[in-house]
Amino acid sequence: MAQQLPAIPVDKDVRIGKLDNGLTYYIRHNDYPEHVANFYIAQKVGSINENEDQRGLAHLLEHMAFNGSDHFKDNSLQEYLQSIGVEYGRNLNAYTSTDKTVYYINDVPTKRITALDSCMLVLKDWSNGLTLDAKAIDQERDIVHNEYRMRITGTQKILETMFPSLYPGSKYGQRYPIGLMEVIDGCNPETLRAYYRKWYRPDNQGIIIVGDIDVDRTEAKIKELFGGIKVPANAAKVELEPVPDNEQGIFLVGKDKEQTMSMILAALKRDATPDELKGKSEYLLGNYLIDLLTNIINVRYKEETQKADCPFVMAQIENGSYLISRTKDALTLTIVPKEGQEQAALTAAIRELKRVHEFGVTATEFDRAKEEKLSQLEKDYNNREKLPNDRYCQEYVDNFIGNEPIPGIENLYTMMKQMSPMLPVEAVNAIAKGLIVEGDRNLVVLALMQEKDGQTYPAPDALKAATDKAWAEKVEAYVDNVRQEPLMAAAPKAGKIAKEEKNAALGFTKLTLSNGATVVLKKTDFNDNEIVMSAYAKGGFGAFGKADEPNLQMFAEALSYSGLGSFSKNELQKALSGKQCGIDFSMDEMRHGLKGKTTPKDLETFMQLTHLAFTNVKKDEQSVGNFLNLVEVSLKNISMNASVVFEDSIQSVTYGGNKLYRIPTVDDLKAVSYDRILEMARSAYGNAADFTFTFVGNFDEAVMRKYIEQYIASLPSTKKAKAQPFTDVRTFVNGEQSRNFTKAMENPQAQAAEIWRSANIDYTLKNFVLLEIAYRMYDMVNNREIREKLSAAYHAGAKGDFDDDGTKAYAIVTGIGMLNPDKAGEAVPYFQKDLQTIIDNPNQEDLNKVKEILLKQADVDAKDNRHWRTVLERFVRSGKDFESDYKATVQSVTAADVSNFLKNVVLSSGNHIKIVMMPEKK
Ligand SMILES: [Zn+2]
Repeated sequence: MAQQLPAIPVDKDVRIGKLDNGLTYYIRHNDYPEHVANFYIAQKVGSINENEDQRGLAHLLEHMAFNGSDHFKDNSLQEYLQSIGVEYGRNLNAYTSTDKTVYYINDVPTKRITALDSCMLVLKDWSNGLTLDAKAIDQERDIVHNEYRMRITGTQKILETMFPSLYPGSKYGQRYPIGLMEVIDGCNPETLRAYYRKWYRPDNQGIIIVGDIDVDRTEAKIKELFGGIKVPANAAKVELEPVPDNEQGIFLVGKDKEQTMSMILAALKRDATPDELKGKSEYLLGNYLIDLLTNIINVRYKEETQKADCPFVMAQIENGSYLISRTKDALTLTIVPKEGQEQAALTAAIRELKRVHEFGVTATEFDRAKEEKLSQLEKDYNNREKLPNDRYCQEYVDNFIGNEPIPGIENLYTMMKQMSPMLPVEAVNAIAKGLIVEGDRNLVVLALMQEKDGQTYPAPDALKAATDKAWAEKVEAYVDNVRQEPLMAAAPKAGKIAKEEKNAALGFTKLTLSNGATVVLKKTDFNDNEIVMSAYAKGGFGAFGKADEPNLQMFAEALSYSGLGSFSKNELQKALSGKQCGIDFSMDEMRHGLKGKTTPKDLETFMQLTHLAFTNVKKDEQSVGNFLNLVEVSLKNISMNASVVFEDSIQSVTYGGNKLYRIPTVDDLKAVSYDRILEMARSAYGNAADFTFTFVGNFDEAVMRKYIEQYIASLPSTKKAKAQPFTDVRTFVNGEQSRNFTKAMENPQAQAAEIWRSANIDYTLKNFVLLEIAYRMYDMVNNREIREKLSAAYHAGAKGDFDDDGTKAYAIVTGIGMLNPDKAGEAVPYFQKDLQTIIDNPNQEDLNKVKEILLKQADVDAKDNRHWRTVLERFVRSGKDFESDYKATVQSVTAADVSNFLKNVVLSSGNHIKIVMMPEKK
């Protein structure tokens, strides 16, 4: 069959071109969402292209792109982009990996043509107009160093030490993108500039612009801006760095105190498909089959974990690059062993691979996997007119960097729909036999261990012995147990829609059903293949007593991991393959309910699941037991993670140690009673009249009403909502609170937070908007003063919370920073000082920028089903319309309003918390 396959077509709606100097561009008009566009520049170079004295400079350079260029001096790039509504971090960012460096500006408003031209100018500056001023470089060294300190995890630290052994004979072993801190701290600016000059050239660059733009004009502009750039004679070529095969197995054991759980990785290496062969259909088909294979194996692993004596709590296999290299691929197995059972876990996981190697997968597993995959493709295909800009941009980046196919969803779905039924199970089994092989060749096994007292560590030899043991065992073929019966044995007795009201302002219909349940319907055309749902009732944590705290912490998860009807969780997952129905239980301080999402095609199944979630949760001790095991393993060493400890301290101080707001301990987990949770659910979900269901999306009204009568109006009820007095479980501590503490750390870092909470205030749109504006302005000042001017932080900013109970609210403003411990003393006072600056002298320009950002975001949100679900929930619950006048309210806010709000509403309450965590002196 393979020989008759055509080449993969290229999506006809993208204009791809190449200038004489080698610059490649991708331009696509896309109307969804309207009035915004994304701008990308991708470089075919990254840390692998560094010289030894440049290790880490690809990444430092990425940072420097925001610190001065031909048309945007100093920090004016960020300031300018904010002024047109582009938010740093969210819409504007960059990333560096071994083989690529990508910069992007997302969601640029397109109504003003000057904004588009300026963004093209930004791309142009990034391509060859960076200033790379020595003083600015010095400032950025600290920030990158702080980033290293803050973000590097235990796993990364272990891998860092292992890379040379993981890549013997290859430069990949010495080119982890974060690089060497002595280079970051001490490199000559000229060494950085040399990297920039050598590699940032049009022949290594791809410009990608997707959105509500004029393609011809954009193309002309690219030619005008980039056409004149010359590639120097004798420019260095970007060569792919090979990764040699390993004849002997590589077995490594590493440990770190900040490794929060022990893990074992096993990689089966193979050569990556060369770029020039990726245009053939065989490549697409091969990937498709490997994808199905890994999905099937993962289902088997999940099933294994349900057995009480399984030595791992999680095992998962994935196909992709071998760690950080683009020339070698691998099937990579990730295993989380039960404590002390590392070897047994490795043997058990490899055993499943051997089973697949020997007997293949079954035809029923294969059919289910195909059905599921096609159903996912179909979901995108049905919504093909409304795919977001970002998705196209990612595809074009991959095409530019690694020649990945870009057939577009229309071609892809058509091809796969045609080919998939013709693929026999033997095709995937042949692939499995080739990829999963016995022996050491190209095998890499790593144990990433928690370092702690009393821990024992496997020796590398033991990893080899555990692998060999699995292959030497005799295994039996897998038996695929599937339940063939329908989800519901009989349809429930339908009820009726008893009452109907329309709301013109927000465009929804409110139904009251014969059993007393309320349903809110809003039909939209934002996504042709999406319907989102929520169901909630008053109650939440407040409906239960203190004794149930451990159960409340795990309530929603335990129910979501349970079965439904006569199906266990595992049987349910098998039965639902090929269907897009996600449904989860939810529980918070005020409310409990369900949240979910589906497609028009699978709506009936989704409604059945909803009905069963209310009426027939099936106890599944294996599934819930395994979930709790996994949580326990992840919690055991969590106190080694400084950020988690800091976050937990904030919660503890804010709520006076209230368990509901803290990370559960292993003891809390032990106190969880699954039986009690099921009992709580029966009382909480027993009366449909307590609930409001909200559906937003593209549904057929008549079909939706039929299902509502069948599956929701039929839910048991007393016909009357139960009186549920509001019990406030938020145990806020009032007044001034301060906590300074030190923590032993491998990587010294400081974290600080200052929190101001208002007294009870009116729950109004105006207060809501003022809080949003105030904290964003505060974020800008903190970033400017602490990160940029002081170079004291990897991150310094602010957060805001508008915490309401339906009638009253609290406005909470938090300044937060991850600081360089040497500069923390100098930096911390700024959190207070910066807030005072906004009160004394609010910056009008900052206010204008924040308004632009919020107004633009409002346009994006207006086309989002989830956003509307929140808007309607709020309105139906409390009568508050935060949508209709939102933009006008944002526009009406003055600098004096913000100053008064912070001074008279937020600060005047005297509720102020200050928390600083410092590293313990070694
Ligand atoms: Zn960075």
